[in-house]
Amino acid sequence: MSNRILIVEDEPEIAELEKDYLELSGFEVSIEKDGTSGLAKALAEEFDLIILDLMLPGMDGFEVTKQIRETKNLPILLVSAKKDDVDKIHGLGLGADDYITKPFSPSELVARVKAHISRFERISGSAQTANETVEIRGLKIDKSARRVWVNGEEKTFTTKEFDLLTFLAEHPNRVFTKEELFSEIWEMELVGDIATVTVHVKKIREKIESGKGKPEYIETIWGVGYRFKG
Ligand code: CA
Repeated sequence: MSNRILIVEDEPEIAELEKDYLELSGFEVSIEKDGTSGLAKALAEEFDLIILDLMLPGMDGFEVTKQIRETKNLPILLVSAKKDDVDKIHGLGLGADDYITKPFSPSELVARVKAHISRFERISGSAQTANETVEIRGLKIDKSARRVWVNGEEKTFTTKEFDLLTFLAEHPNRVFTKEELFSEIWEMELVGDIATVTVHVKKIREKIESGKGKPEYIETIWGVGYRFKG
């Protein structure tokens, strides 16, 4: 069965170009032309990856990403026309997996799509043969279902937050530098920087820590990086 891609793009020439290249690479491709219909399609059907333009009529790509992330974990590749958007993507910690700025070459797009899908499948697939569940004190991570509970209450995580939390929890009591975590979790990304790690750790803490006193799970080792308390 071929992998399914959803393109949400309001410029027909770009959408068709992306579609042609992806179909040549064996993907099955659907196109939606605005944010509202793109979101509806993304939620109603199963896709392996979404290519999402940021500037869309109706609902913009930021809002679409936010809403998809409330229920879905699949890779999202944002397409932006402005360099300014890059700062905004980082700042929001939106849970998009990657972004690409226009103009880009279709072959680069296809390469990124392939890399994200194989990585996502590798993570999901390996979870089924390895230990299914990681439990540390009040924290429970179901790796195959990609779900997390804190003291019995389920919390929603973006793909990268989940990957980072799981990686740390599976290597307790070990200090990792931000560079190590970045290359582990964002391995094939051509862009991005280690500040992304800080943003993601902050988001994870907001969900798993009580906020009172010292962090119970993820400690900051000043000047070095982070350590998960086992
Ligand atoms: Ca657009």
